[in-house]
Order: sequence, then C-alpha cells, then structure tokens
Amino acid sequence: MNKEELNLELQSIKKAIQDNGLPIPGTIHKLYARCGSKTCPCANDDSKRHGPYYRWHYRMGSRQRTIGIDMENIETVQNAINNREKLEALIEKLLSIGIQYIESELDPSLNMSTTNKSKKT
Ligand SMILES: [Zn+2]
Repeated sequence: MNKEELNLELQSIKKAIQDNGLPIPGTIHKLYARCGSKTCPCANDDSKRHGPYYRWHYRMGSRQRTIGIDMENIETVQNAINNREKLEALIEKLLSIGIQYIESELDPSLNMSTTNKSKKT
C-alpha cells in the first residue's frame, strides 16, 4: 500500500474503533452445581445438578474476578465480550498500518548494513 492508501485505511480503522461498542475482558462460563444438601438428588447424580448458572470471568493485570450473571444480562455481557474481540482485531490492523507506514519512512540502506555485518563502510 502507498501512503495515500495507508491513510485511507487508517481513517476507516479509526472510525470503526470510534463506532465499536463498549468492550470488556474475559469470557462467560456455564456451569452446573451441587447445592450441598445430602438429601437432594444432585448429591449423587451429575445430571440432577442445579443450573445452568452463568459466570463472567476476567483478569485485569494481576486481578482476577468471577461474577454471576442473571439470564437477562447474558446477551449484554456476551455483546461486550464480542466488542472486545472486534476491538482487538481493529488494533491488530492498526499496528499493521503503523508498521507499513513507519517502515516506508526508514532508510532501507540502514537495514542492509545491520544484516550484512561483515561489510565495513
Ligand atoms: Zn441440590
């Protein structure tokens, strides 16, 4: 891509990032649980466990959290997770544009001299 094309692509990615919905980290886990009562059918039969329950699990730096999600909010949480995946894909594209743009600015002869160390200048 030439610089004009890179600039057009850059504008379109910036617009897409601006239009991207609210992102969150993490994933949704679906689980079935035992209630703890010895007289409940769930105690001895895996298929009788309670649920499904949904948990949003995420990590931010060293902090890790798991939060229960009620049925009516599963879609909201899943959409925000999808928004993060879209955002990450857009950032990847942005980095690729950055690489192409900056590489085109750099003097290629400098790159030659570092890959051919035996040659004295
Ligand atoms: Zn039970």
